[in-house]
Amino acid sequence: MIALEHASAERGLLILSHGEELRIVAEARTGRDVVDVQMQDASVTPSDLPDSLLHYVIRTQESVILDDASTQNPFSQDEYVRQRRPRSVLCLPLVKQVNMVGILYLENSLAPRVFTAKRLAMLELLASQAAISLDHARLYADLGRLNAELTQENSDRRKAEEELRQKEISLREAQTELAHVSRVTTMGELAASIAHEVKQPLAGIVTNANASLRWLASELPNLKEAREAIGRIIRDGNRANDVVTRMRALFKKAYTAKERFDINDAIEEVAILTQREARRNQVALRIEPAADLPTVTGDRVQLQQVVMNLILNGIEAMSTIEDRERDLVIRTQRGEGDEVRVAVQDSGIGFDPRSAERMFDAFHTTKPGGLGMGLSISRSIVESHGGRLWAVPNDGPGATFQFTFHT
Ligand code: ADP
Repeated sequence: MIALEHASAERGLLILSHGEELRIVAEARTGRDVVDVQMQDASVTPSDLPDSLLHYVIRTQESVILDDASTQNPFSQDEYVRQRRPRSVLCLPLVKQVNMVGILYLENSLAPRVFTAKRLAMLELLASQAAISLDHARLYADLGRLNAELTQENSDRRKAEEELRQKEISLREAQTELAHVSRVTTMGELAASIAHEVKQPLAGIVTNANASLRWLASELPNLKEAREAIGRIIRDGNRANDVVTRMRALFKKAYTAKERFDINDAIEEVAILTQREARRNQVALRIEPAADLPTVTGDRVQLQQVVMNLILNGIEAMSTIEDRERDLVIRTQRGEGDEVRVAVQDSGIGFDPRSAERMFDAFHTTKPGGLGMGLSISRSIVESHGGRLWAVPNDGPGATFQFTFHT
């Protein structure tokens, strides 16, 4: 199964710094239906990832993407690259305030160009969230040591154990986060292979349906053959269905946090992260937050993913505009009832009102390198929170994408 081969080739490492030393604390691999995350505590060796790349990222604290590590690049002489031959590689420093707290390393050995700038921006967001969870993970490790020292003193130990349990929960969160990060990054490659995998059973269905028509059309219909062909149609239909089900499971985050948070703060973080992309595209990005908004309830990271998707789409929609300002405005306001409404307005190419709904279909894209998954995933995130996401053409040029979130 091509998708599985692709997916299982996908690997991610989470490396944290302990003082001077770097240690691998988790390794994620995409497996059959799930992303398998192994927690560990091992020193980093040149057989884990390209050593020269790792040191470059530590020195510069900048993310590196290799579109295709198998072609000539500054790291092609690296022993790891030569032996393991990864194709797409991404190495991202996890920076908290100004300190590098760790490194996220992702690779894909089958497909080139899996890690795009758009996905990097998304990862940087997730990484900044992960950095926070990671601090908890580190606390957990410290507590582990503390716990060992406290074995004599019973009451203290009980307290430590309770804290340990709490930290374990944080650790699981970090784990889910990492799994989610690897999942988001395999999307491109998965979409391509899933399309391929669905096509095969579909072709089989058409062939067998034609065959059964032929068996039935003859003067003496051959019911036995026809029945067998129909059996194969059902088998292929189920196979296609399985592929789609598996895909859904992959895109869905297993764990959804339910917390109260300030939506303006969450949006501002995303705006900061996308500022660089905006500047690079000569886009003026601005937030118009409503004052006195109530806090909203849901998964903060997922909401940020939606906002980021909409911002990056807006920036892309303005990339060909030369005769007017490229403005992107993010507004928050009170909606109906207990709703808060977020609007992302651009002055880009806009859309044909007839395709206002089609844009949200999975795999619908008008971009050459597009996946057509962004809006579809965004909508499912918003709807899983009980909100709505829709698009309206502006009075002037451009489009506005809006969604609601419950307080
Ligand atoms: P992708 O960006 O990979 O194409 P999306 O699901 O995010 O996938 O978007 C689907 C399509 O919707 C885009 O290809 C584009 O045609 C349209 N679209 C999305 N955002 C905008 C926008 N801000 N302005 C105009 N069209 C848009």
